[in-house]
Formats: sequence, C-alpha cells, structure tokens
Amino acid sequence: MRIAIVGAGLAGLACAHELERLGHECEVFEKRDRVGKMFNTVETMLESLSTEPSKDVFETLRQELHLPLNPANHITRLVLHSQSRDTLIRGHVGYTTTRGPEARSLEQQLLRHCRSPVRFDQNPDVEELATAYDWVVVATGSPRWPKHFGLWQRDIAWYIRGANVIGDFNPGELHFYFNTRYAGTGYAMIAPFDERMASVGLGVPDSSEEAVEAYWTRFRQEQGHLWERIEDEFKLECYEIGRVKQRVVGNVIFVGNAGGFIEPLGITGQQSALQSGVLAARKIALGDEAFDRFAARWDHFYSDMMRLRLYVNAWTDREMDRLVGLTGHGVGSVLIRSPLNLLDLVGTAMAHLPVTQDPSAEVGPS
Ligand SMILES: Cc1cc2nc3c(=O)[nH]c(=O)nc-3n(C[C@H](O)[C@H](O)[C@H](O)COP(=O)(O)OP(=O)(O)OC[C@H]3O[C@@H](n4cnc5c(N)ncnc54)[C@H](O)[C@@H]3O)c2cc1C
Repeated sequence: MRIAIVGAGLAGLACAHELERLGHECEVFEKRDRVGKMFNTVETMLESLSTEPSKDVFETLRQELHLPLNPANHITRLVLHSQSRDTLIRGHVGYTTTRGPEARSLEQQLLRHCRSPVRFDQNPDVEELATAYDWVVVATGSPRWPKHFGLWQRDIAWYIRGANVIGDFNPGELHFYFNTRYAGTGYAMIAPFDERMASVGLGVPDSSEEAVEAYWTRFRQEQGHLWERIEDEFKLECYEIGRVKQRVVGNVIFVGNAGGFIEPLGITGQQSALQSGVLAARKIALGDEAFDRFAARWDHFYSDMMRLRLYVNAWTDREMDRLVGLTGHGVGSVLIRSPLNLLDLVGTAMAHLPVTQDPSAEVGPS
C-alpha cells in the first residue's frame, strides 16, 4: 500500500509512527526544511482540558497511542490571576511540552522514533497525490486544504503575541492571567521551559494586530518585572479555528488542525492532533472505525466549547474574578484530583445557555 502524509507536525508524525508500528511504510512531505513549529515555545497539556478522561495524559499517549513521548515539565502548581484575585491550585495539574526546532520538542521526539523518509521543502498538491497513492493524510496544521475541498467552516481566529524570556522560574509552575486589560476574553500565560527560560504569551480571540500589540505593551509594562530580559519575540495573526464537515473524502483523510481537531475555547489541540493521527493510521492499516467514532465525539465536544467561547466573549473582569475566586480555598485542588472531565461538564452545562455575542465582533483593549 502506498501512503503519503502531508505535514511533519504532531498529527502527521504520529500517523507515520503508528503506520510503521502496524507494518506499513509511508512517505512524509514537509513544507519547511525541518520539523517543528517556526519558533521554540512552551505549550500545555492539562488534565482538566483533556478530551479523553484519564489519570495521566502522557501515560495515555504511551499506552493507548503507543507514542513514546516525554513532556517538558510536570505541572504541580497552577496560579490563576484575575484583576482582583489570585488562586494557587496544587496537585497533578498536567504537563508542559516544548514545540519548535529544539531537541526536546514533541515533533523532534516523534521524528527520532520514525523510520519513514521525510521529504523536506515540499508543498505537494493533495489532489495529485491522491491519484498516485492509495491513501493521502492531510496533516498541514492549517485550513488551506479543507478550504480547497469546500469542507471548512470558520468559527473564530486567535491572535498570539509573546516572547521567550530569561529570568528565574519554577519549571513546575504555570501562571494564567484572565484579565480583559491583558488579553480581552482570552488569556495571558507564563510557562517555563526550565529554571532560566519561559514562554510568555497572550492569546486573544477575534481581535486585530493593533489591539493585540496594545495588550502586549500593557502586559509587559505591568508584569515585566517577572523576568530579566526578552530573548526573542513571536507573533501569530489570525490563527483560524473551525469545523471540517467531512474528514474522509475518497482516499484523503484530514487530521490534526487540518481536520478541525483543535478546540476554540482556549486553542488546545496537541492531544487531539496526536490522537487523530494515530487513529487515521489504524483506519488505513486495519480498516478500524475508531477514527470516525473519535471524530463524532470531537464534533460534540467542539460544539460545547464553541458555545462556551461565545458565552465567555461577553465576559467582563467581574466574571473573570468570579471564575478565579471559585477555584480558591482549595476547591481547585480538589477538582483537579477528581476523575471528572471539567471541560466536558462545563460544556454540557453551557449547552443550555443562550449565545450572547456575535463571534465575529472584534474585541480590543479598553
Ligand atoms: C501559539 C500557539 C499556542 C498553542 N498552545 C497550545 C497549548 O498550550 N496546548 C495545546 O494543546 N495546543 C496548543 N496549540 C495548538 C497546537 O499547537 C496545535 O493544535 C497542534 O500543533 C496541531 O498539530 P498539527 O499536526 O495539526 O499541526 P502542526 O503541528 O502545526 O504541523 C503541521 C506541519 O505541516 C507542515 N505544513 C504546512 N503546510 C504544508 C504543506 N502545504 N505541505 C507540506 N507540509 C506543510 C508545517 O510546516 C508543519 O510542520 C497552540 C497553538 C498555537 C499557534
């Protein structure tokens, strides 16, 4: 069987790894001259945001998806800040991962475990590949190909601005800021690579370049004392998130972000990218239907998260304060120890709330 994978990111390499495990060779086509995101950055894999209820997200990756991956740090202290409250949640919160060219990044780890050839500097035409290969897996991390196939429905776009900074950090501690002055109804985050370096970033939904620049300036002015100096800066405009109407079209399968497997509430998508890649490989190699079942579950989860996002879009600092206050007095620490999937619970509750704001409305700093 001839199999092509377009995109050597999380979903594409996870797919290649599983195909190899099941005895199939594949060819991977990558647009860049190396694997990994454009810049080194820290991302999170928090248990409460996991789509699949589990005790330990990395154990699940290893045992159920056979992905021999390691996190960057184990997070045992989560500090939530709003305009007038701060809460510390202790316990097994989850993990951070690194992304980008550095050796510890998830993509570099996956690449070291894959034998299939990765052809760099390639931007192949998916329709042409589909005539030459038995299967084509689209794992490009973007909506370009689902748009081309007429499958994409855009819901929201996130604007990202941040920097990697030097200072003194606790690698097991993660800080989130829910403050409309810093990131509208999105969030700011300080996530350490290690004791001496951290990623500091803002994620703002449906905004504009100018508005995000103003947020970033304010965040640096007010919180810049938490680091010594900026090493390198990054920004990403208009990171589109949406739904993909159909993920299997003939012999073409869409996975990862290209398959709409990223949620719109807080843009988490690493676990679902890995999972969709592995399950697509099982569909190809075994004719297994787990991919289709996962996609159906995901669509349900995504709708709940989108509803929640529209609800949060109307929040002011009063609601942010309430959210952070609710997790105080040890409540947050008890909740993260429970086996319940918190996002699922909140999402289900939110399914009954009315939509309060036009999702396309721009939000800027006051
Ligand atoms: C700033 C930021 C912060 C994030 N934070 C988190 C977080 O904290 N937690 C979390 O879970 N998720 C987070 N996410 C989302 C997460 O990074 C993605 O969901 C995940 O990387 C998607 O994996 P993927 O394999 O679909 O795409 P990617 O990992 O982006 O891989 C796509 C690959 O395809 C290649 N490619 C693109 N086009 C082509 C083409 N035409 N031909 C060949 N190759 C191509 C790219 O170069 C890349 O190597 C964040 C995203 C961003 C942007």
